[in-house]
Amino acid sequence: MGDSAETLFERIIGGEIPADVVYQDETTFAFRDIRPQAKVHVLVVPKTRYRNLGELAAADPRLLADVARTARKVAEIEGVLESGYRVVFNTDGDAGQTVFHVHAHVLGGEPLGFFGA
Ligand code: 5GP
Repeated sequence: MGDSAETLFERIIGGEIPADVVYQDETTFAFRDIRPQAKVHVLVVPKTRYRNLGELAAADPRLLADVARTARKVAEIEGVLESGYRVVFNTDGDAGQTVFHVHAHVLGGEPLGFFGA
């Protein structure tokens, strides 16, 4: 886990900051990104905070599987299971991670361009 200061996403999960919630269950929480990069752009976060994908995978692989399952559930809810979707975990500086509570971006609803530098 990271440091003790609450992250933005913990405040969203706690209902302190409003969000457009798409799905939630016992261990995960999914809500629309405030600055969507595609027609479908939903963030999936584990309710327990880890800093990034590597820390989550090392500490709690079962919770990582829950995040993957919720990403698929979001794709189903958003109607993009057939057309396809992308799942992205930004990690640290060059990837542009801004919130240090691991989250999967679920993107789709239109053809997605190649991404990189
Ligand atoms: P990162 O850059 O860390 O991979 O992704 C953080 C994401 O959180 C960004 O895509 C950003 O648009 C989104 N975001 C930042 N602040 C808020 C907010 O207050 N509400 C919601 N729904 N999304 C946010």
